Amino acid sequence: MVSVASLLLEGSLPRLEVRLLLQAVLQCSLTTLISAPERCLGEEEIAHFQALQARRQRGEPMAYLLGEREFYGLSFLTTPAVLIPRPETEELVDWALETSAPLASLHCLDLGTGSGALALSLQYHRPHWQVSATDHSAAALALAKENAARLLPSSGPVLNWYLGNWFEALPKGETFDLILSNPPYIAAADPHLDRGDLRFEPRQALTAGPSGTEDLAHIIAQAPLWLKPGGKLRVEHGFDQGEFCRSCFLRAGFTQVTTRTDLAGLERLTGGQRS
Ligand code: GLN
Repeated sequence: MVSVASLLLEGSLPRLEVRLLLQAVLQCSLTTLISAPERCLGEEEIAHFQALQARRQRGEPMAYLLGEREFYGLSFLTTPAVLIPRPETEELVDWALETSAPLASLHCLDLGTGSGALALSLQYHRPHWQVSATDHSAAALALAKENAARLLPSSGPVLNWYLGNWFEALPKGETFDLILSNPPYIAAADPHLDRGDLRFEPRQALTAGPSGTEDLAHIIAQAPLWLKPGGKLRVEHGFDQGEFCRSCFLRAGFTQVTTRTDLAGLERLTGGQRS
């Protein structure tokens, strides 16, 4: 007999992870789980739990095992086709929402949307905005659309989804008030790629080339062609890429070039305005 309590005490994984895996296997809330620790698992439930436990022990990210991850208060389906949404990227949503008049009707773009985290958080909080999103991966775009169907009311706003590489995905002549992107920015030889969750995430969502800044440079240089006058671009980047990004923004003719730091005081977001 294998009870919830015995698994929680077993110690092969951190208890929080065991609890989350058990919630997934038993399809129950935390309250239900911990209010009946004597509950015994059936044979199939044990097999399911052990399979998830073994995958976790091999290092697979919790977000892929559970199939979802919370971002900006919304639960996003998350598969190995997409980068796992990260808390630091929530700052990009904050910045976008706080620097735009709530009633303004903006045309926004999320470049390289992955699970749809940025595009759908914006659309959820600003249903009157017209939001477009691109991705190079058809599997990612399919998942983002699935997330849209889950998170937005069926009678609500409809996003434009475009498959393709950065701006090449867009119809010619399209212009935006606001462009956001969390592109890949890790250097191809960065040893972090061989550690933790990153080992399991799509490489094309993490690295852009030898220096890691290749896609940032491309996006910043091209963005003025896709922004309305006065339109804004805001990107996420590595903690040591702030100066590089500011110089790209200035070279591309942006004004009001600003970098924002995260809670740890590291430079993680840079933005500018098309004059
Ligand atoms: N911030 C992520 C990390 O360092 C990388 C995400 C990205 O490349 N856009 O794990």
